[in-house]
Amino acid sequence: MARVMRYYVSKLFQPQNIVPKNSEVKCNDITSKSQKLMMDMGIIRAANNGFFYMLPLGERALRKLVDVVNEEMHRIDAQKLVLPSLISSTLWKMSGRFDDAAVADELFTLKDRHNKKFVLSPTHEEAVTDLLGSISQLSYRQLPLRLYQITNKFRDEMKPRFGLMRAKEFLMKDLYTFDTSLENAKETYEAVTASYKTIFNRIGVKYVRVAGLTGTMGGSLSHEFHFPSDVGEDNIFVCKICGHGNNAEVFPHTAQSTGKGDVNKCGSCGNSSLSHVQGIEVGHTFLLGTRYTKPLKAQFMQRDGKPDFLQMGCYGIGMTRILAAVVECLSTTSEIRWPLILAPFKVCVIPPKAGSKENEVASGLISSLFHLLDKDPVLADDIIVDDRLELTIGRRLRDTAQVGYPLAVVLGRQTMDQEPLLEVHNFSSNQQVMLSVSDAVQYIV
Ligand code: ATP
Ligand code: MG
Ligand code: MG
Ligand code: MG
Repeated sequence: MARVMRYYVSKLFQPQNIVPKNSEVKCNDITSKSQKLMMDMGIIRAANNGFFYMLPLGERALRKLVDVVNEEMHRIDAQKLVLPSLISSTLWKMSGRFDDAAVADELFTLKDRHNKKFVLSPTHEEAVTDLLGSISQLSYRQLPLRLYQITNKFRDEMKPRFGLMRAKEFLMKDLYTFDTSLENAKETYEAVTASYKTIFNRIGVKYVRVAGLTGTMGGSLSHEFHFPSDVGEDNIFVCKICGHGNNAEVFPHTAQSTGKGDVNKCGSCGNSSLSHVQGIEVGHTFLLGTRYTKPLKAQFMQRDGKPDFLQMGCYGIGMTRILAAVVECLSTTSEIRWPLILAPFKVCVIPPKAGSKENEVASGLISSLFHLLDKDPVLADDIIVDDRLELTIGRRLRDTAQVGYPLAVVLGRQTMDQEPLLEVHNFSSNQQVMLSVSDAVQYIV
């Protein structure tokens, strides 16, 4: 059996002191609850304005999100690849985006020693289209193709803020699809939409899907997924009659676009009874058609041997933004609440304080607890022991609640009773139950 890794709070790299070293860098400005909690709890740390160190707890939560997304991408036959981060600016000139002011303002560009200009990719439509276009004799038999990556993206955001939610470097899952006809591309759009709904249902935070602007990305159809939240930067309107929703950006120059009032009519049924919320954009889908494949000349051979342009779609999920957004939506002002599926550790085990009477019974219980847990390596990997035995149980329980581990297994006074029991605290339901070792394991799986 593979060696099970054991995690201890005393060993965890979780720097919680956020005093800025360099006062020039105003990266410690706190602009949202989630940013404060994640920095206070040593989950992320500001590196510079809009750039973050992802610390071990953050990396674990992010990895869990990556796992969910990989599983769902696999289910829709999407294949994972990695595209380079530096892309020749020539490709961006061909698509016209290099000279589009709205895009160019956010572009990081650089030159190599031969004076060749590159774009530090904010998104990869040009790159992936060039990849497809470079394949000679791509046949209709090889289509549809669904290709995705989970890589860092770079945008020179005017106002980086809210921690990971609006950063200059962030992790995105980007999927690009290629079909033989617009009709097939629309079916792909539906399949990816269903997949996105599954992903957001699995995360478990309330979301809305609304019509979005195609904007500088182009194409004919676009939808966004939002977590409703006061710190959301988008104004979302949902029709109380038919349920159709849209981002106010879709109707610029109206009262909607300012988020003030609902005088506007529903884009679908025409009713004027709309509810307004602010939303954090966590996902975006676009039906692009030939917006990129034409200028970048990405074609395939049809059944009759004639070439035609690929019909494309692109689909983003803001991975690091989601991490902050779930914390923003679920947490109190002082305690992080993770969705169970994303918590960095699922369970924190809290042994008695050093020198207390319970220790002898407790050490036997802990051995039998881990004996059972280690039979399930995935679960065993999700357990951390708060071995700061100099601290009281109460203090360590408070820390567990603050950092947001959903469950705590406490070896307190009750472990001394005739039938030794474990105290299991469930922070999401605010319950506390006394269980035998085997029942506790059943409870936490
Ligand atoms: P926004 O409207 O918030 O600026 P966007 O529409 O520019 O986002 P897209 O180009 O649609 O973003 O990128 C896909 C996804 O990447 C977004 O839905 C969002 O979740 C995420 N994302 C975009 N910009 C950032 C950023 N600066 N920091 C973190 N995540 C981001
Ligand atoms: Mg943007
Ligand atoms: Mg947007
Ligand atoms: Mg978007």
